[in-house]
Amino acid sequence: MTTSPSLLAEKIYHQARLAGYDDCGIIPIDEMDAYRDRFQERLEKEPTSRPFYERIAPGMETKERFPWAKAVVICTWWLGRYKLPPSLEGQYARAFFLAPAVSLTEEEKQKKESFTDWLTAEGIHWAGGEKSSHLQIGGLRHAAMKAGLGMIRKNNFLYTERGSFVMLEGFVIDQSCELRQHHDLKPCAFQCHLCQDHCPTGALSSPFTMNPLKCVSFWNTFGKSQLPPTLPEKAMGNWIVGCDACQNVCPYNRIPAAKAEKEVPAPITEALPWLAPERLKEAPDSVLQKEILPFCDNHIQAEEVDTLRLSAARYLRNQARP
Ligand code: SF4
Ligand code: SF4
Repeated sequence: MTTSPSLLAEKIYHQARLAGYDDCGIIPIDEMDAYRDRFQERLEKEPTSRPFYERIAPGMETKERFPWAKAVVICTWWLGRYKLPPSLEGQYARAFFLAPAVSLTEEEKQKKESFTDWLTAEGIHWAGGEKSSHLQIGGLRHAAMKAGLGMIRKNNFLYTERGSFVMLEGFVIDQSCELRQHHDLKPCAFQCHLCQDHCPTGALSSPFTMNPLKCVSFWNTFGKSQLPPTLPEKAMGNWIVGCDACQNVCPYNRIPAAKAEKEVPAPITEALPWLAPERLKEAPDSVLQKEILPFCDNHIQAEEVDTLRLSAARYLRNQARP
């Protein structure tokens, strides 16, 4: 017996929730096409970012990469369910340190993986997910917005009703179905530009655009902490891995309902002493590779651990500045 598209969509949603995701929506694969236009607009607004965007552009061609796919399932995972240890606040970004890949116990990871196990058991051909690659299946924020899971704000992040500290996970599937969610989010106030004002490097040059080649988060990860002459190290402030400045300042991330509930699990608390910049700067390769890199979401490779030492050293120099 074949399953009707609406029943299939309901079943997928149900399984996603059982696996621990906060929400789930499904859009037809054709709706990923509009993302290319957004991508082009961004290039036109920030022509200097072309080298970066051209490198990632092939990953955004969802339909070409997965010609057999008919729909995109997009799931949200609220990172704020764990409290970021206070000593990491303002130095280490939440998306790296609270990602499910590092914050879940083995049992919780298995529960999360039960979603793709179920897809496979149902005979649904799928690709994507957290483990697939950094780019996953393409424009995840766009897909989440189209599925009604949230809205993209002027700082370019996707916000659900719990704010922007949300991991998105996308899966392409070979079945046609659709599921739209609804939210009551209000758009950014016209006069608000707090995120732009608090971006330390001017990477947020205008609403809904960003120059990754000016972004702190790029330079202290992919950029190996080797800053170009145009970027003064003072602008990197206290950030060692990533940067949350444009999200931390946003009023839509200060909602009481979005209060963290749980303490972070052991791998993070055990690494805390090494995350102190004085120790990070001197830590041996083996410690950085084993204790710290798992929190960097593949943004820093094993042979690039000097990135962490350079960032820690810069933090200490910035602390010493008047
Ligand atoms: S992450 Fe930091 S540097 Fe990048 S756009 Fe946001 S505030 Fe600016
Ligand atoms: S800080 Fe203001 S402008 Fe920026 S994303 Fe938040 S509400 Fe929108």
